[in-house]
Amino acid sequence: MPELPEVESLVRGVRQELVGKRFADVSFLRPDVREVIPAARLKDILVGETVTEVTRRGKYMLIHTNKGALGVHLGMSGRFVGASKSALLVAHTHARFEVNDGLEYRFIDPRRFGRLFSLEPGEVGSHPFLAKLGVEPLDPGVDLRGVLLEASRNRRQPVKVFLMNSEVVVGVGNIYASEVLWRAKINPHTVVNKIPVRKFIEISRQIIDVLSEAIKAGGTTFRDYRDKDGNPGYFQENLAVYGRQAKPCGRCGSKIVKTTQAARSTYHCLVCQK
Ligand SMILES: [Zn+2]
Repeated sequence: MPELPEVESLVRGVRQELVGKRFADVSFLRPDVREVIPAARLKDILVGETVTEVTRRGKYMLIHTNKGALGVHLGMSGRFVGASKSALLVAHTHARFEVNDGLEYRFIDPRRFGRLFSLEPGEVGSHPFLAKLGVEPLDPGVDLRGVLLEASRNRRQPVKVFLMNSEVVVGVGNIYASEVLWRAKINPHTVVNKIPVRKFIEISRQIIDVLSEAIKAGGTTFRDYRDKDGNPGYFQENLAVYGRQAKPCGRCGSKIVKTTQAARSTYHCLVCQK
């Protein structure tokens, strides 16, 4: 499943290629993905219009023109890939966004949990998909430590479940939450309001570091992401705990254990994560 770093890498690549270009045509090959696609409104926003900016909010990519924006969410299996107009359509291609230079972008999503939607100008903060999203951890204007500390004080849930709540902070998905807590030496099952205040400095720092490293890894493989099928596998080589059950902890040599939290797999070291 594409996570924030993959989406950020995608956004940077699409921004580089699309800003200043004009959409020549847009076509939808089915009426819906996760929801009905607002085809007529999206054509009005995009066709004949110049792309002014490409931004990200959480895991949503937003492609703006002066008339509004196209919102894209990749869901579980979605991809937004560049192709030449004459390239064969692969299975599960649901939308084509043609640009005026022989290139087009295609939205491909076998499982159809992805989203294609429209935003009116200025609607980014209030659109129903976006309005409840928590802070952007990599936004330099955000006091991540303060936000996490305040949101955690009256919650009695495990810290990993807390960090994955996108209404508090976006982008800390299952893999990254496990990695952050290993780096911060905190047991993922610890109830969040029992964590000492000083440890929130470390949690915030590790969220920023892990996501930044993953974006850096992804940023160098954007072409691969765009051109090939399947998962980009960003960051996979750098994982310290995720997917490493029964393997030795890279810090203390003890065995990594796998547990389940909120129906998701969690990995941690029993010895050095307290
Ligand atoms: Zn350890």
